[in-house]
Amino acid sequence: MLCLCALSIAAPVHAAWLSRAVDGIMGTRIFVELWSEDDEQSKQRGEQAIDAVMDEMRHIDETMSVYKPTSEVSRVNDLAARQPVRISQELFGLLTTALEYSRITEGAFDITYASVGYMYDFRERKRPTEEQIQSALPAINYRHVLLDAATSSVRFSQPGVRIDLGGIAKGFSVDRGIDILLSRGYKHALVNAGGDSRVIGDRFGKPWIIGIRHPDHPDQIITRVPLTDSAFSTSGDYERYFDEGGVRYHHIIDPHTGHSASKVRSATVIAPTATRTDGLSKTAFVLGPEEALRIYNGLPDVDAILVALDGRILYTKGLEPATAKDPAAAAH
Ligand code: ADP
Ligand code: MG
Repeated sequence: MLCLCALSIAAPVHAAWLSRAVDGIMGTRIFVELWSEDDEQSKQRGEQAIDAVMDEMRHIDETMSVYKPTSEVSRVNDLAARQPVRISQELFGLLTTALEYSRITEGAFDITYASVGYMYDFRERKRPTEEQIQSALPAINYRHVLLDAATSSVRFSQPGVRIDLGGIAKGFSVDRGIDILLSRGYKHALVNAGGDSRVIGDRFGKPWIIGIRHPDHPDQIITRVPLTDSAFSTSGDYERYFDEGGVRYHHIIDPHTGHSASKVRSATVIAPTATRTDGLSKTAFVLGPEEALRIYNGLPDVDAILVALDGRILYTKGLEPATAKDPAAAAH
């Protein structure tokens, strides 16, 4: 998780931040904050804009959640191994994007992780046996998801395939929320859904500041990054997990092994959209810091901050001069 550090800046008079947090959408807390004029009419418009963002989040949850048996994604999981399933343009678009991120991340991001992933329940401390993993593992491969634009349909190339958009739907919903605020003319705003956030503008001539937490100490900030007009996502092995026999079982799954992917402690990705940052933030866990930095450094609009297994903080090239001139000082 990230914390947004409030800056004490003298705000213009007759204007104020409006904000609201709502729990229980997409299994997380949604937070929206926007800058509005201080008169009654503007405040009412602001509240309506926040309502619209929350409604959009609920709509995406209804469509994309695998925990809702009536969602479009659940219907796909029920049927697509047997027949093509016609889906909405919205879901078709997000599946297309998800497959693009599988290619960009060389297979680290893979929505078919769920073919094994559905057998984990981190709250119940439940995990599949090695035998169960091995028998389900061949169904993990994004290439099993076949999209047909002509009929707006999806099918799976073999039985046992399941998809789960938990690794990209929150980022997508944050972008949809930001689009709503932009279309209503807001120039300073923040939308956050779990580990995924995006900001419009700045905070009065000063950037927003994101703080990256210590993987083991929620209250300790290990580094801070200034941002304007950007999205950022943090993935961590401390978000949803249980420890057993000295092993941490957590919610990011290596598509090649069906086990939790544990090559870093946390990864924060910064890019123009939250769909992009969400689609990229799992990569370092699966591929490890060197491979992930190679991929991130090859994308001109992407930056990242990784917390390695030994606690070192690693940066993409774009962040090095500003935040890590002296790598020895950054490593602690
Ligand atoms: P958050 O849910 O807080 O945004 P992340 O962005 O780190 O956290 O996403 C973690 C989620 O991604 C998991 O709960 C799971 O639904 C999904 N996931 C796990 N492993 C993978 C993977 N290899 N590729 C794509 N999605 C994954
Ligand atoms: Mg996320």
